[in-house]
Amino acid sequence: MGSEFDERAAELIGAGRFLFSRGWVPATSGNFSARLADGRLALTVSGRHKGRLTPADILLADADGRCLDQRRPSAETALHVQLYRRFPAVHAVLHPHSVNATLLSLLHRDELVLQDYELLKAFPGVDSHECRVRVPIFPNDQDIPRLAARVDAWMDDEGAALHGYLIAGHGFYTWGASVDDALRHVEAFEFLFDCEMRLRGGMR
Ligand SMILES: [Zn+2]
Repeated sequence: MGSEFDERAAELIGAGRFLFSRGWVPATSGNFSARLADGRLALTVSGRHKGRLTPADILLADADGRCLDQRRPSAETALHVQLYRRFPAVHAVLHPHSVNATLLSLLHRDELVLQDYELLKAFPGVDSHECRVRVPIFPNDQDIPRLAARVDAWMDDEGAALHGYLIAGHGFYTWGASVDDALRHVEAFEFLFDCEMRLRGGMR
């Protein structure tokens, strides 16, 4: 394994520490990945605590998510692979299981629409608070390839300017050109989800 893998692995480990410190990946939940220049993937190993990742918890997989050593990648690898196939510019995918994402995914039926927030400008291509950022909500499914196919079909129909999506009762996915970009999108979504929850009367 070359140094590029080691660098991406270090970034994913750092992302895990940060996301856990914010309470967004409790109890070994969530999973992360980064795409290397040759198309292979650095993926979190299934079931590891995301706040205490070590280099041994990041595995190397091919572009289809098949592990290139003996370990087992995250159960949700197909969802990462779907995003990498669809978006050539995406090089990192982060999947937290936060309280606000989980609650909002249950409070809204098919999609959450975020608008009038200055922080929407954290997303690429958004240059005004007046933009509407749609966040689709997919039903949860233990059959991950089937869920990935559903996400893919939605993107075929309406996925032009998508920055993330929710899975009902579960969490959300967001991505970016780098691990840093994807982390910024997690932070932005979490801020916006928090605003939405408080607007709904959950003032803290
Ligand atoms: Zn999950």
